[in-house]
Amino acid sequence: MRDPTGFLREEYEQLRTADLDWKIRALGGPSAPWSSIDGKRVLMLCSNNYLGLSNHPKVKAAAAAAVASHGAGSGSVRPIAGTMDLHLELERRLARFKDAEASLVYQTGFATNAGLIPQLAGEGDLIISDELNHGSIIDGVRLSKAERGVFRHRDMADLEVVLAKAEEHTPAYRRILVISDGVFSMDGDIAPLDQIARLGAAHGAMVYVDDAHGEGVLGEGGRGIVSHFHLSRREVQVEMGTFSKAFGVVGGHISGSRDLVNFAYNRSRTWLLSGSHPPAVVAACTAAIDVLETEPEHVRRLWAHTKRFKGALSSAGFDVGRSETPIVPVIVGESSRAKALSERLFELGVFALPIVYPMVAKEKARIRTILNAALTDEDVGFAIAAFEKAGRELQILH
Ligand SMILES: *Cc1c(COP(=O)(O)O)cnc(C)c1O
Repeated sequence: MRDPTGFLREEYEQLRTADLDWKIRALGGPSAPWSSIDGKRVLMLCSNNYLGLSNHPKVKAAAAAAVASHGAGSGSVRPIAGTMDLHLELERRLARFKDAEASLVYQTGFATNAGLIPQLAGEGDLIISDELNHGSIIDGVRLSKAERGVFRHRDMADLEVVLAKAEEHTPAYRRILVISDGVFSMDGDIAPLDQIARLGAAHGAMVYVDDAHGEGVLGEGGRGIVSHFHLSRREVQVEMGTFSKAFGVVGGHISGSRDLVNFAYNRSRTWLLSGSHPPAVVAACTAAIDVLETEPEHVRRLWAHTKRFKGALSSAGFDVGRSETPIVPVIVGESSRAKALSERLFELGVFALPIVYPMVAKEKARIRTILNAALTDEDVGFAIAAFEKAGRELQILH
């Protein structure tokens, strides 16, 4: 008889042999500028905690206070008995921060995309995606019965062609939904959301932006990409984001019209059927919004570090690609070179992971770094020096 689970080990061994398996690194303490990784103290350059809010005293204190006042868990899913006053307060605060009529919070960004996208477009509809959109968008689209279209990365002429063709489709599509990441996480480039919004309006399509890497980074006081381009909610109907990156906690969310939110919570199965956030998470998210509203210096420091780091690496001769944000890829070519650079950096005290094929093209392997407002100027200097030293040793720099 054949072993019905034999594939588990076989497939894992194949990944391991090809060096494509994930080697899990453990943090012995908080995600901080200097973190303990597998027991070694290193400078953290690959967390999404852009503003250091996961360790902000106000955010930590809010989490602890909520455990004391509301307990460790919420007891239910949101629609039954899992909506606490804390959840409603967070949604009010987020809507105010985003200058939107209403906001809705999901358990994660992934749960938001997987739960909402298949409800916004289904049979007889069309979803059009940037080819480099995040995997959670891809899965959300796969859960939909809608037809799928793709446009070349940030290519507005191509999007226009896809939209024009869609308008001629018979029978006519009921609805058309255009979806893009706001900031692309592999290259740190920004979607031309102003142009996407204009094309969407011209062709009667809804526009959905996933701003996971733009919040806390772009726009006025870190309000995100819709603020960055000064767009209105009539032009970008769904602004989606996450509390797991710059906000420093965990959770997904959308902002838009009251109609959008009413529709979304009645239809999204991830929201309806999965337990709600525990009090500590909710209170920490609200506190993170508070910090963004009252302490603008974090976003300013993030950008100052970004400018300095990117400038120094470019001058040294590194290829930082098309980055426009604190995500700075250091593109070195072959996968083996990116891995060697990452290992050498770790020895020198810098933690930055390689991103290799199949996540990026074979000849575009890179170290992806993400700057952080909690770094000191000295830390940024340390990181630059480590990159220069490792780059010369490995003959990436000459
Ligand atoms: C990280 C990320 C997500 C997932 O967000 P989580 O809240 O961590 O589940 C979704 N979309 C994009 C573009 C992301 O970068």
